Amino acid sequence: MFDTHAHVHGESFDADREDMLARAAQAGVTRIQTVGTDLADSARALDVAAQYGLDAAIGIHPHEAKDAPDDLAAAFDALRAAARIAPRAIGETGLDYYYDHSPRDAQKRVLTAHLRYARETGLPLIFHQRDAFEDFTKVLRSEFARPMRGVVHCFTGDAAAARLLVDEFGLLLGIGGVVTFKSADGLREAVRAVGLDHIVLETDCPYLAPVPFRGRRNEPAFVAATAARVAEVLETSLDEVIARSTATAVTLFSE
Ligand SMILES: [Zn+2]
Ligand SMILES: [Zn+2]
Repeated sequence: MFDTHAHVHGESFDADREDMLARAAQAGVTRIQTVGTDLADSARALDVAAQYGLDAAIGIHPHEAKDAPDDLAAAFDALRAAARIAPRAIGETGLDYYYDHSPRDAQKRVLTAHLRYARETGLPLIFHQRDAFEDFTKVLRSEFARPMRGVVHCFTGDAAAARLLVDEFGLLLGIGGVVTFKSADGLREAVRAVGLDHIVLETDCPYLAPVPFRGRRNEPAFVAATAARVAEVLETSLDEVIARSTATAVTLFSE
């Protein structure tokens, strides 16, 4: 299994990072991508990833967009020049109108800058979208076109939104612990609508632990519970879900 979206470089894992990674390996997690949320956090993601043999993504979360540098490309170039490993993706970036921690104009400006940087570098994108679907697709329509690639992480929308992202933009959907929640019938319908070819697995740990770990700190080992629920939803085997979601994620983040 490939946990495509984790925050294992964060301080909530400082006390037990090696044990947590051992538990992940024990659970069948073969690859973990740790995702930055601002410049300093992205530098730490690269550093911890280099130390532990993980993948890292660099980006500025929409919550932090108000503090983003004017020249994002120059800042990312400097980050990459100083790092021991290369990032595998640009993100997380996007729009979050649920919390509105940054002004919406700033969120859109910073998302656009990420899209342009990804286009220049050829790196895939990791998107975060919450309660901003219309503006999100509007920005994508002006700045995102194949052969650009990416994933909408922690996808929680309905079948129509899922189909639009897959059909119009060729995006993948990152499916996490929410798919195990009792209330998530709409998301399970979305998973069935797009099918296994367009899905990758994630934890978004330390947040959003799947059932039966809900309420606890999430960690990569728990992605197995999400994989099992996806197998039930799609009426296929756990092995099939693991093999195909992993292959899809490896293709997205390795080319
Ligand atoms: Zn996110
Ligand atoms: Zn995240």
